[in-house]
Amino acid sequence: MLRFASLGSGSKGNATLIESGVNDKDTRILLDCGFSTKEVEGRLEKLGRTAESLTAIVITHEHSDHVSGAGRLSRKYNIPVWLTVGTSHACRDNDFYETHFINSHADFEIEALNLHPFPVPHDAREPCQFVFSDGASRLGVVTDLGYYTPHIISHLDKLDSLLLECNYDERMLLNGTYPHSLKKRVHGDKGHLDNKHASELLKKLDLNQLKNIVGMHVSEKNNTEEYASNALCEGLGCEQNAVSLASQAEGFSWREM
Ligand SMILES: [Zn+2]
Ligand SMILES: [Zn+2]
Repeated sequence: MLRFASLGSGSKGNATLIESGVNDKDTRILLDCGFSTKEVEGRLEKLGRTAESLTAIVITHEHSDHVSGAGRLSRKYNIPVWLTVGTSHACRDNDFYETHFINSHADFEIEALNLHPFPVPHDAREPCQFVFSDGASRLGVVTDLGYYTPHIISHLDKLDSLLLECNYDERMLLNGTYPHSLKKRVHGDKGHLDNKHASELLKKLDLNQLKNIVGMHVSEKNNTEEYASNALCEGLGCEQNAVSLASQAEGFSWREM
């Protein structure tokens, strides 16, 4: 049984929990750690889990909203960390308890979970995103993506669950208060996925067996919940209450596959 939950998602911090199993011997992966150790401990407690029980931390890229707390958490609880060489070199704090390097074109296993990484266009050194599988079902997680490519589409076909970035509404970003350079960065090919492109991407995927979808990394300044969920619904051709969004403050609670 694959389960997942979010500790929080957005430009102020991201962390997603993915676990497989039915008892205390679950494989439990923390994907990204953009919160302080104290925050992670508190947010894990709300989800009924402890930091001691984490099997691994997996990092997608070195931006602080994904990695700021990873080093300290890894050392405090002796948790091994998986990341690409490029991401490791670009992390300010990469003194992990134990480091495993990812080849972003090769699957690997962490206990009961299979991880299928793929490289993505994003303004980091060697960013990748993942499809997780326990052999029975597949969960795709794509939180930081400048644009989608045929390669990315091929990895996200036939998923059971998808966590997909819906970062911003183009009009709100361009008319908003961000400085010009930051607007350009977010809007660029190596920035973030906006509502319109998230919706377009969904239309290109084979999602016949999709049971869960959650919008991720929703900007608090340049998006609204209504815009983001409308975009996901439009892409899926479904009712608006069929989709949900991860929040910065709470993430979202457990989903089972
Ligand atoms: Zn990023
Ligand atoms: Zn991010």
